[in-house]
Amino acid sequence: MRLFPSLLLGGAVLATAGCASSRPASTPAHGELSSLSAASRPDAAFCEHRVPQENCTRCNPELAPRFMAAKDWCGEHSVPESQCFQCHPDLSFDPLPVLSADADLKRLSLQGEDVPDLASHAVAGKVTVFDFYADWCGPCRKVDVHMFGLLNQRQDIAYRKLNVVSWETPLARRYLASVPNLPYLIVYGRDGKPVRSVTGFDLSALDAAIAEGASR
Ligand SMILES: [Zn+2]
Ligand SMILES: [Zn+2]
Repeated sequence: MRLFPSLLLGGAVLATAGCASSRPASTPAHGELSSLSAASRPDAAFCEHRVPQENCTRCNPELAPRFMAAKDWCGEHSVPESQCFQCHPDLSFDPLPVLSADADLKRLSLQGEDVPDLASHAVAGKVTVFDFYADWCGPCRKVDVHMFGLLNQRQDIAYRKLNVVSWETPLARRYLASVPNLPYLIVYGRDGKPVRSVTGFDLSALDAAIAEGASR
């Protein structure tokens, strides 16, 4: 199985009770979401626990130590954090498409460090999509699936990922102060000027912003 590097990064990933992507009232300590639960193929079989059969620790208890070693474990519910629907109702198990070598993806913030001037990272002549995400945000992973597909088809899109890690990092304080939930995307046009931001999981709004940015 091909694992996506950013989801394997360590660091203080905070998982939150309730809706995984909304700003939490408090941030109880939990395990970390890893990509260990992702299906290896798009047509993978799912078990009665709504998890890819091959990775389910309730169907395959011998797998549990692997998840625990990756700190991907919800002690409260005795399943991997990445399989805990009670903590993360909007979990996604979609495998990410393999990126082609010329896909234009860069990571501007790996651990929530500040990126003061977004505009200077907009790529002239391309639509630049800035993606504020966190590893505990299931819908953010679905945005990645969509964007990776676009990057593999089009050379005129630049994807810039910013890992906010939590709501308290310098990056989150600068850009997410009035943003209620993730994913949060800011789209710049080919002219290097902002088109608009898209808050929450809304692929049609994202596609419309990209189309508008490409027409400039
Ligand atoms: Zn199962
Ligand atoms: Zn849980």
